[in-house]
Amino acid sequence: MGRLFGTFGVRGVVGEDLTEDLARRLGLAFGTYLGGDAEVLIGGDTRTSTDTLKDALAAGLTAAGCDVTDVGVAPTPAVQYLVEAEGFDAGAVVTASHNPPEFNGIKLLGPDGCGLSKEAEREIERIYFEEDGERVGWRSVGERTRAPELLNGFVDAVLDYVGDFDGEGLRVVVDAANGAGATITPRLLSELGVEVVSVNAHPDGRFPGREPEPSEENLRETMSMVRASDADFGMAHDGDADRLILITGDGQFVPGDYSLALLSAWALEEGKGRQIVTPVSSSMCVQEVAEEHGGEVIWTKVGEPVVVEELKRADDPALGGEENGGIIYPDFHLSRNGIITALLICRLVAEEGSLSDLLARIPRYHLHKTGVECPDDLKPRVMEEVESLVEEEREDVEDVITIDGVKLVYEDGWVLIRPSGTEPLIRVFGEARDEDTAVRRVEKWRRRVREIVRNLQG
Ligand code: MG
Repeated sequence: MGRLFGTFGVRGVVGEDLTEDLARRLGLAFGTYLGGDAEVLIGGDTRTSTDTLKDALAAGLTAAGCDVTDVGVAPTPAVQYLVEAEGFDAGAVVTASHNPPEFNGIKLLGPDGCGLSKEAEREIERIYFEEDGERVGWRSVGERTRAPELLNGFVDAVLDYVGDFDGEGLRVVVDAANGAGATITPRLLSELGVEVVSVNAHPDGRFPGREPEPSEENLRETMSMVRASDADFGMAHDGDADRLILITGDGQFVPGDYSLALLSAWALEEGKGRQIVTPVSSSMCVQEVAEEHGGEVIWTKVGEPVVVEELKRADDPALGGEENGGIIYPDFHLSRNGIITALLICRLVAEEGSLSDLLARIPRYHLHKTGVECPDDLKPRVMEEVESLVEEEREDVEDVITIDGVKLVYEDGWVLIRPSGTEPLIRVFGEARDEDTAVRRVEKWRRRVREIVRNLQG
């Protein structure tokens, strides 16, 4: 049987892998899976193809008998939150998040507003590929309603969660990536008194300002704008506003794990819980800050769905997040929320001091990233050999974590050897308190991995 779903729902290049025909058939399969009489909330980002795909998805769902409510252009976290808060049976977001403009995607949601389980996805794929979708008769075709006003409920809940503060005197560059956060984040910050310098602030699915991935490379112009505009600091969303990246007042890119560390301290101090959930690839600064504030880190595999699963399982979760700027506030909703992150950072700066002061409280680590080319079919054997090498060589190594790849933990840093999920590559990266140590350790392991790959290739 064929596969539709990847790690983050269905994703592909529009008109090639992802067509309106696929979206309609997926809608019919999802509607059939839901039993044909469910209430489904849909929304999407600003991409040129989003309305077309959303209409097709809705056509399939209503043909199966489901009622569809369309919230319109909306950040992914808004749709996720509203599915649960408004009591819908299911949801769907049409978005390709941070991917380039030629991509789009469809993320299906359960009644809790989170992604579907693997079993549910398999069943929907079965219905899709066996063309087992059930159309209802004319009396039972689902209704379709537009309800952009539902977004107000999300906005109110966000404001309530962050709490009132006076942003007067703050000057902040907000780069909304011409995406789904464009109409919300700058407006909310202005209402809180923050002087907002908007960049890429009109919704435009061609992404004329920059690529929607908020990487250091894509944010060069925004970074110099922060410097030139005399702002206190800057912030940048990805295309669907579930992520947020910070830029210091002097235009430096702040890796997402540092904002995660900042907000972990906040969440622990606020008594939200005592566990911080993050993938093994995140900076050690998160662990240090968590422990300093009486909390602990639960390490997971890489990827948002596993962080969410672990947050569901955790008995006292305070916060979850990734090094890409995606932070999950479990007492708000189990979804990444870049809008809450934007507001909370402004609140912390307004109340506690400049962003640089806040970041100065976080221990600094130097990250060194590299990789070794390796064919996909060799990856499992390479990793087996890496594991046995690690067994032999435990000097300096305090701990070995094999949750995802092999992570060697040292007193002052770590090295992670992990096969890439998307490329013929074994990633070798790590950090240490000083740059030389980081480079030395990572390069040592890169040479070893390269040797293993060469030997296996004969
Ligand atoms: Mg995203």
